[in-house]
Amino acid sequence: MPDAIRYRPEDARVATRFAGIRTFMKLPWVTGDLTGADFAVIGAPCDGGTTFRSGAAFGPSAIREMSVMLRSGNLNLDVDIFRYLSGVDRGDAEVNPCDLRDSHRGIERAFDDAVRQGVLTIGLGGDHSVTLPQLRAVARRHGPVALVQFDAHLDTYDTENGSGLTHGTIFRRAVEEGLLDAKRSIQVGARGLFGTGAIRESEELGFTVIPAKDVHERGIEWTAGRILETVGDRKVHLTVDIDFFDPAFAPGTGTPEVGGFSSWEGLKLLRSVGGLDFVGFDVVEVLPSHDPTQITAYLAGCVVQEFLAVLAAKRRAGKEADRG
Ligand code: MN
Ligand code: MN
Repeated sequence: MPDAIRYRPEDARVATRFAGIRTFMKLPWVTGDLTGADFAVIGAPCDGGTTFRSGAAFGPSAIREMSVMLRSGNLNLDVDIFRYLSGVDRGDAEVNPCDLRDSHRGIERAFDDAVRQGVLTIGLGGDHSVTLPQLRAVARRHGPVALVQFDAHLDTYDTENGSGLTHGTIFRRAVEEGLLDAKRSIQVGARGLFGTGAIRESEELGFTVIPAKDVHERGIEWTAGRILETVGDRKVHLTVDIDFFDPAFAPGTGTPEVGGFSSWEGLKLLRSVGGLDFVGFDVVEVLPSHDPTQITAYLAGCVVQEFLAVLAAKRRAGKEADRG
């Protein structure tokens, strides 16, 4: 074995998958001192920023429920995640269903605590507004970061229904707060917009935008190339809005948009940008009440699993380089 891995899931070949408490991947639930963990999964059960169907506050528990199916091995990258990474489920941030700003403060506290301990955070939403407090925590440690956003929407409106704080405005707020290096940031998969004016507005903030049409017509490898070239060596927060995927693959979401991507295309795109310098990651907008087969929650878990496999493969490559 390589260096001792402190926190790993139970082996599903030995321990029955559907028995026991459902933490993410049945990882140990650890709060407080996170010494010995490379990453911490943190739930942000908050949907006070939604503008259509609400209920994404139940996303983290639905993702955990199906995550007991996830395996520690990833065949796409031929890597066993927990040979190289140690991870915990830190539980959920404290939120206030009656006050979105108060919820965001609670989410920021939870992520800030993990980020300060040098642990990579894996956020489970929640509507997309929960990414804003995560970015505050990440930027406090790392300075302004690049954002890579897989999403059917841009979430850079100034206001929606008169409010400046919704799941559709947060990346404009993040730029205004100096949390993002917008020139190094890229939004991929846009299709559900009121018009091309929204793309221009995002570009005026500094973002590069690749609409869904371009991804479909030019392909995943071309898209990955554009992402790598935009971000360069900047530290990155990768945010995956589950509505990036076509509703045929991810029906359980609040603002579905047809003409999206298959689960395979999304996972391939994620792997193809694996060389980036990640300092934060989250997956958001899972809406369990519209997810009767639990496939959306499962896909969200698979997206996290693929991301962890990317990190594990990089660590393996580093160890092999050390052995020279
Ligand atoms: Mn979004
Ligand atoms: Mn979206």
